Amino acid sequence: MPKDRPELPPVEELLTAAVTALGGVERPGQVKMAQAVRDAIESEEHLAVQAGTGTGKSLAYLVPAIRHAAESGDAVVVSTATIALQRQLVDRDLPRLADALESLLPHRPEFAILKGRRNYLCRHKMAAGMPEDEDDQLFDPREVSATGRMVQRIQEWANETETGDRDEIVPGVSDQAWRQFSVTARECLGAQRCPSGADCFAELARERAGQADVVVTNHALLAIDAMEDFAVLPEHDVVVVDEAHELVDRVTSVVTGELSESTVSLAVRRAGRLIEQGVADRLQEAGEDLRALLAVAPPGRVDTLPNSLGMTLALVRDAAFACITALGPRNKDKDDPENAGLRKAAFTALDEVHDTAQRMLDAFGPAARGDETGDDAEDTGSSGGSARGASGGANGDGGTDARSEEVHRAEVVWLEEGRGRVPPTLRVAPLSVGGMLRDKLFGDRTVVLTSATLALGGTFDSLSRQWGLRPGEWTGLDVGSPFDHPRRGILYVATHLPQPGRDGLPEAYVDEIAELIEAAGGRTLGLFSSMRAAKAATEALRERLDVPLLCQGDDSTSQLVKQFAGDPATCLFGTLSLWQGVDVPGPSLTLVIIDRIPFPRPDDPLASARQRHVAATGGNGFMAVAATHAALLLAQGAGRLLRSMDDRGVVAVLDPRLATARYSGFLLNSLPPFWRTTDPAKVRDALRRLTAGS
Ligand code: SF4
Repeated sequence: MPKDRPELPPVEELLTAAVTALGGVERPGQVKMAQAVRDAIESEEHLAVQAGTGTGKSLAYLVPAIRHAAESGDAVVVSTATIALQRQLVDRDLPRLADALESLLPHRPEFAILKGRRNYLCRHKMAAGMPEDEDDQLFDPREVSATGRMVQRIQEWANETETGDRDEIVPGVSDQAWRQFSVTARECLGAQRCPSGADCFAELARERAGQADVVVTNHALLAIDAMEDFAVLPEHDVVVVDEAHELVDRVTSVVTGELSESTVSLAVRRAGRLIEQGVADRLQEAGEDLRALLAVAPPGRVDTLPNSLGMTLALVRDAAFACITALGPRNKDKDDPENAGLRKAAFTALDEVHDTAQRMLDAFGPAARGDETGDDAEDTGSSGGSARGASGGANGDGGTDARSEEVHRAEVVWLEEGRGRVPPTLRVAPLSVGGMLRDKLFGDRTVVLTSATLALGGTFDSLSRQWGLRPGEWTGLDVGSPFDHPRRGILYVATHLPQPGRDGLPEAYVDEIAELIEAAGGRTLGLFSSMRAAKAATEALRERLDVPLLCQGDDSTSQLVKQFAGDPATCLFGTLSLWQGVDVPGPSLTLVIIDRIPFPRPDDPLASARQRHVAATGGNGFMAVAATHAALLLAQGAGRLLRSMDDRGVVAVLDPRLATARYSGFLLNSLPPFWRTTDPAKVRDALRRLTAGS
């Protein structure tokens, strides 16, 4: 890429060329957004842009991003939350955009997709035939043979693939099968030391990304790149975060630690092959203590650390440390290339166990560290810090655990119930990732955050606080939507219904849903706050209505959405993934029903801890956490209705609190400006007219 600064056409001209070539219509909101992104890049000031559906926001950020890359020679990173948007950008938008802009720029814009290391086939693991990690619980012969068939398919595909990208395998394979052929970034030996480093698929993907003008990635990898000591993404000075309303949740997932009998036994299996049996047995025993304790402990947030749990966590930590010590120096691999992969895998699993146990103890303050528990700490020299010594791995991930360092004390620990083969699991996550984002992501690059839903209650304040941005450090812009919401959509709140209770879907709600669906002639997307409510409504209404009724879980969600979109009479009921993932323009979606305001569940450990923390520091915990969460989901759910300029319809919220509660103004201000009513007869008439006219 050229390092001198060529004279390039202005953003407006490039955007017009792009829109014309792609056969679209230039919209004022799109131009405004492209200019704002250009200004943000030039002034190096962070920007948050809310751009409603139909704005054409991808082009509005890609055009100035590509222009900047062509001018500066530096890549721009575009991060999305969903694979669907990544694929749309890489398979559809970017190739067409490159064609459209090629003649106006010094070179054809190059682009690349970059995923986390575990998404690529690891040639070393494959060649070394490293023993699989699977646990003893895999005893169902049907599962064994299904996994075996997938393993065989992966092996056949491995001989042909040029990218090593898991997504190429169709149909997809289970995580369990894929794990036999992939490593995490921490498990990777590092290209310098790895015998397969020269043809490593993950390294080749990075190399391609290094040549690109635009690198498309996801929020998780963006977070890892920002927080770890080693670079995952190529050098860049501008990041565009699309679907930015999901950033905090995705980053929180990346920094959430977990500990269970499974994570401990994985570490035991890996270490057991390389160290004295007695040392590994000690970790095994500590893992069994943990299993016994978690099996009888109540699920939910752990507010104060029970003695028994504190002792067990300290035992696990110290036993893991003893195993780490027994493995010997980390840099010994160069004398023992045969076992390098096995040792790295063992260190990674043991570090994870040790550091997570320590992190959980730290979450309860210095008194809970448990260093004095028994003689183990003294024996092993466990320092209560990260187990990774100064001689970390060549991949750059062997130093201090950046995630642990970032979170200090402000963490919450909770126990999640076991499900099927997944045992009860302790988790630890930070109360806030704002400080982390502020220092690591926003620190030395310009960040553009965009989504159809960022201005909650009419302002960007809620989300900017969660991102850790302070006033004066960023600008916010709402470019609106090209849709005429007051004329094309109705927001109906059923104020005559009772408030939703704890005991499932009230009978009156089922009656109301039936009447609305009859008036709409099907064409309904039912968004429920729980799977239980979605199933209850489906069961009750299948008997009463003669339109086809699909429920999430009946088939894969993409298949259900396809069926729903293909037949206007069909209705689709479901929960969380439908709130954000359904894009069905046209008459098949005329009515969106929302059963209740989607507050976090009262027993959601992280949300309740965050709420309490805000309250304890003088803020309004309910508004900052629960109402913000609900506003975001409500806006996303209501956003399913109008997907093209010709769409019309109704969003029906059955929960009367949306019109009557003291916080209703905040929630209503987060929704598109539909015409509003609380009159059920008017809404049913409108639906009948719409159905008759389509
Ligand atoms: S460099 Fe890492 S990911 Fe690549 S082949 Fe080697 S161990 Fe596997």
